[in-house]
Amino acid sequence: MGDGADGPDGARVILLGPPGAGKGTQAEVLCRRLGVCAISTGEMLREAVAAGSELGVRVREIMASGELVDDATMAEVVRDRLARQDARNGFLLDGYPRTLPQAETLAGILRDAGLSLDAVLLVEVPEDELVRRTLSRGRADDKEGVVRERLRVYREKTAPLIGYYRERGLLHEIDGNRPVEEVTAQVLDLFRAGGIH
Ligand code: AMP
Repeated sequence: MGDGADGPDGARVILLGPPGAGKGTQAEVLCRRLGVCAISTGEMLREAVAAGSELGVRVREIMASGELVDDATMAEVVRDRLARQDARNGFLLDGYPRTLPQAETLAGILRDAGLSLDAVLLVEVPEDELVRRTLSRGRADDKEGVVRERLRVYREKTAPLIGYYRERGLLHEIDGNRPVEEVTAQVLDLFRAGGIH
């Protein structure tokens, strides 16, 4: 896997899909099975908010509203995270990129490192089920109005990434409306079948 002549051989994968599709759950299981680290920008930001860091203070309100943190801030967060040792051998990105400019930023970071993406997994779940699942998590940014807003933002800002990655031959569609183990199995089959390398 990977194309770096002198090194990294783990997969570099993006998990794409609406809030509540199960990306976080899949990221946790898949990172162990694939031997790469899971990077959740939402989790990183929530930790920053909890710690009351400068970043946390900056993003707290925007997160609570269901809107996206600005692309420049996210570029900093992701650039730093991907530079860390544990990301060298590959990664599963959960929640990044979420806009076309973010996709371009990621492409630039990888290009500079002589790396490329292996796959974008689009996890799809019907909207009613998304709302039901997200509300049952009970997080601060999971109130119904905010959930609907997060879905609207997904459709407007993030869904264009589907076409972007499809054009680049990287998109794989995963049916997320099934038990967790079945979703994981479909992804692992894709890797095994050589559809992703
Ligand atoms: P998540 O847990 O991935 O749904 O992220 C929770 C919240 O963090 C989102 O609703 C956004 O406010 C913010 N966030 C996480 N990742 C990004 C990103 N890539 N771009 C902008 N905002 C983000």
